[in-house]
Amino acid sequence: MTVIADGKALSEKIYNEIKSEVLKLQKTPTLAVIITNDNEAGKIYVRNKQRACEKTGINSVTIEFDSNVPENELLDKINELNNDASTDAILVQLPLPKHIDTEKILNSISPEKDADGFHIENAGKMFTGQIPNSIACTPKGIIRILDEYNVKLEGLNALVIGRSNIVGKPVSQLLLQRNATVTTAHSKTKNLEFYTKNADLIVCATGRPKFLKGSMVKDGVIIIDVGISRVDGKLCGDVDFDSVSPKASLITPVPGGIGPMTVAMLIQNTLNLAKQHIYDNFYNER
Ligand code: NDP
Repeated sequence: MTVIADGKALSEKIYNEIKSEVLKLQKTPTLAVIITNDNEAGKIYVRNKQRACEKTGINSVTIEFDSNVPENELLDKINELNNDASTDAILVQLPLPKHIDTEKILNSISPEKDADGFHIENAGKMFTGQIPNSIACTPKGIIRILDEYNVKLEGLNALVIGRSNIVGKPVSQLLLQRNATVTTAHSKTKNLEFYTKNADLIVCATGRPKFLKGSMVKDGVIIIDVGISRVDGKLCGDVDFDSVSPKASLITPVPGGIGPMTVAMLIQNTLNLAKQHIYDNFYNER
């Protein structure tokens, strides 16, 4: 029997847990979100993030810039937020306009306020087995949902298709930390089917709709579909759900799988950063 892992329900459970934690804090956490005006898809994601903040009692502040904003203006705003004691977490919605250096912007966020876990210091700590202030939300959400469904990762042959800095590489690393044997495939991988047919667990993060077919996987495989594409107006994952799900022991759907988990992990990161600031202040004031 195939288990369809319900990321939506799990995210609601996580929001309830976060809400009760927020109520116990002496200060309401605040997430600042920076978005540039031409990023229409980003605006939808930002609205979802605002709704998640409302559900959990976290303040959200959205700062909008024109798409022709000079890089310096963004850097100045981030610097202001870095120094603002009421801001616990900062997120810059990607993608940014082409004239902006994305790495420079992400690395200008204080690692202690890095809501997305993309800062080089946090990514570096995660890759070297140290404890980062925050971990990238989609990879963290993938591990969280696998844990929720009691998937024992140790010893599994895990295949990650995609090697982006925000999904493929960090999720490969987190799976390795859990003692899976990890292969990371990409567009230059030869004979991909050799790897897909041997994998116990596949994380598909290519951005190619319905890319992974049932004929490419073995019976009992665990499937995490990260992709979000729009085909004929409908949301669609990287996995051809109809042909893959009958063979899978567990599969995440699109929508309702990793998407809601990613937002939930952003809110979790915000709470964790806020707690860290509260404890730091407590010890500094003693
Ligand atoms: P990128 O475009 O940055 O990376 C895509 C990766 O897929 C690349 O490493 C690329 O290889 C690889 N790839 C592309 N085509 C093939 C192929 N034919 N065979 C094997 N590998 C291939 O995308 P992201 O990682 O940012 O996102 C991936 C998908 O996940 C997108 O649909 C995105 O919208 C979605 N997403 C969903 C999130 C969620 O919350 N659910 C969050 C983040 C992303 P190469 O490096 O060689 O080019």
